[in-house]
Amino acid sequence: MVRLPPERFDGVSDDAPVLRHPPTGEPLPLVLDSPHSGERYPGDFDHLPPRAEVRRAEDTHVARLWRGALRHGATLIEARFPRAYIDPNRSLDDLDPDLIADAWDGPLQRSRKTEQGIGLVWRLARGGVPLYGRKLRAAEIRGRIERFYVPYHAALSAELDALHRRFGAVWHVDCHSMPAVGDVNSDDPGRARDDFVLGDRDGTTCAAEFTATVAATLRDLGYQVAINDPYKGVEIVRRYGRPAAGRHSLQIEINRRLYMDEHTLIPNAGYPALEADLDRLAAALAVFIRARL
Ligand SMILES: [Zn+2]
Repeated sequence: MVRLPPERFDGVSDDAPVLRHPPTGEPLPLVLDSPHSGERYPGDFDHLPPRAEVRRAEDTHVARLWRGALRHGATLIEARFPRAYIDPNRSLDDLDPDLIADAWDGPLQRSRKTEQGIGLVWRLARGGVPLYGRKLRAAEIRGRIERFYVPYHAALSAELDALHRRFGAVWHVDCHSMPAVGDVNSDDPGRARDDFVLGDRDGTTCAAEFTATVAATLRDLGYQVAINDPYKGVEIVRRYGRPAAGRHSLQIEINRRLYMDEHTLIPNAGYPALEADLDRLAAALAVFIRARL
């Protein structure tokens, strides 16, 4: 078990929904974002299952695992709110009408994620149990969108736009982690996952060479890597990936068994080795990007 010291960020208010970590090395047009590692549970999140069970929705520790990339010129955008409360990696119309007590005045488009209970606002916790003992008011959901979802996307899109303007192209890694075995909310229940799953929505959100470079680097480090199976990437890479315009977005899912106990969320003995390997991957991405500027 690995003990991580508490993190402190000077000048950041306690309720800031998103953190921006600037590069500590020479800046490159490389943006990482971690939308699901937030651990600050809002006071009005009246979930029914115990907190420990709800927290299994998190990609716990992911933002911290990638922190070494800052030295290689990356900027990191980190959500601080829990994704079970509102999920930045879903579209705004991906809402379950059965979860809403009154009228919703926006468009609704039930996706596969909504059917699985894990749309914009989750209806089910991991394991498939109801997250709430009540329906939510439309105004509550609007509030979550305005206070958390919108600021997160504003921070991420501002970073991508600024670097694209400055360098003419930008590479973006959307950072996640996944349960070691598919659960009832997934498309592959009961299946053991590879070490990493890369998602570029079947080659549509970044140049093929970006996906190939990440896959080759990870395989050289000894990992099994799957591509677009079972995760192709969702709203974030769909929204920002425009390879023809020099905007390359790739989703990376890390198997949680590589770095933590999935029930206690405590880092395991593998954490430092994974952290070092992600540092090597970031170094390789810096070389890849420099060669294209
Ligand atoms: Zn995630």
